[in-house]
Amino acid sequence: MWLLLKQIARAGIPAEAAPGANDAWRTQREQLHTDILRTLGRALCIRAVDAGSCNGCELEIHALSNPYYNIEGLGIKFVASPRHADMLLVTGPVTKNMEAALLQTYDATPHPKLVVAIGECACSGGIFGENYATCGRVANVIPVDVTVAGCPPAPVDILRGILTAVSTRA
Ligand code: SF4
Repeated sequence: MWLLLKQIARAGIPAEAAPGANDAWRTQREQLHTDILRTLGRALCIRAVDAGSCNGCELEIHALSNPYYNIEGLGIKFVASPRHADMLLVTGPVTKNMEAALLQTYDATPHPKLVVAIGECACSGGIFGENYATCGRVANVIPVDVTVAGCPPAPVDILRGILTAVSTRA
């Protein structure tokens, strides 16, 4: 016990310094907020669908939910049901096993719905392409409004994709 306490006292509290203020980011955030309110008049509810990804893209989507990006402050939230969603964020190449589920999720999402394909696999099929096990890109299965390239894309790129999709309906 004492050894552990001594070790803790010796190591201190290693932590990263807080990131500095970013005016460009603040401007983008305000633009996004305005577009969302103008288009929807309320919060933007997103249903994330993993159609067969390696989970790399999911980690970046999870990172988007951390306080640094403050998406809840922008009125953006993730929901558990497509029936409550305005937008689908779809990752991965669409595996044959997920094809029917993705179509059902799309049908269950009320109009006007937006679809954003996240990551190289969702945009083009990526390294998996089209084969006996996958349908390839998301657009091969459901209509896609915006694609966000990258393997995986950074959270800020995902946010830009969301902004672009919302702007197309603004
Ligand atoms: S784009 Fe990259 S990180 Fe995303 S699902 Fe495909 S391989 Fe994984």
